[in-house]
Amino acid sequence: MSGSSKFAMTPSPTQKSRPVGTAEAAPVLSAHNLTKSYASRAVLRGVSLQLSAGERLALTGPSGSGKSTLLNCLGGVDRADSGSIRFKNVALESLDADGLTEVRRRDIGTIFQFFHLLPTLTAAENVELPLQLNGIAPAIRTARVRSLLERVGVSARAHAFPGQLSGGEMQRIAIARALAHQPAVLLADEPTGNLDSVHGSIILSLLRELSDETGTALVLVTHSGAAAQICHREIHLRDGQICERLDND
Ligand code: ADP
Ligand code: MG
Repeated sequence: MSGSSKFAMTPSPTQKSRPVGTAEAAPVLSAHNLTKSYASRAVLRGVSLQLSAGERLALTGPSGSGKSTLLNCLGGVDRADSGSIRFKNVALESLDADGLTEVRRRDIGTIFQFFHLLPTLTAAENVELPLQLNGIAPAIRTARVRSLLERVGVSARAHAFPGQLSGGEMQRIAIARALAHQPAVLLADEPTGNLDSVHGSIILSLLRELSDETGTALVLVTHSGAAAQICHREIHLRDGQICERLDND
């Protein structure tokens, strides 16, 4: 299967309808009582959360409250000092470095604030990279890259290098790259923080539409109320603890 059908154009959803089966489904990602310190300063102090397939969760809170640290732990980039994280029923703390890399490569997509596209690869090659790393056959890779670039509206820039692209174009390509391998979870750390409000809101709509279409769950770290609004739920962090849980439905 080329997977391209997953990215076919569908009418833009205007509502944050609950993902189907959320109530019954086991969480795709759950964290229990995470703690982490840097140089004996507690940065995460007992954080627990759950994320269902297709659900969008906003992580908000002031600068320094631990949002990026939490996201990095959830994505297996960083390890918590204590507590547990289950990703599709696998305890991340039970995996060695290679095991974590494998989970990240196969099942997690990441979008960064500053895009982090590889400057020596074209837009299309950047999107293709996670497919290559997953050993996907060339014909399928090509079809999926084409379909994704079309879906995020940058087909015309497929052969441009990152240095030739605008911020909005780079972020679209970063989204396409993050979704290329059809991850179960997409982690985004302030993905609109480096865009003006017009381009930021276009990117937010795109994230909402794509997660609805693909069933990819999203954890969105953001300072912006507008960004949190595309999410079903919001968790507010303060000093490494959850101080508020909001349901946006
Ligand atoms: P946020 O994303 O909410 O702004 P972070 O998770 O980046 O917060 O940081 C939380 C706290 O942890 C901050 O005080 C930050 O300085 C500290 N911190 C984050 N990463 C490191 C690190 N690698 N080494 C030391 N301190 C760190
Ligand atoms: Mg941060």
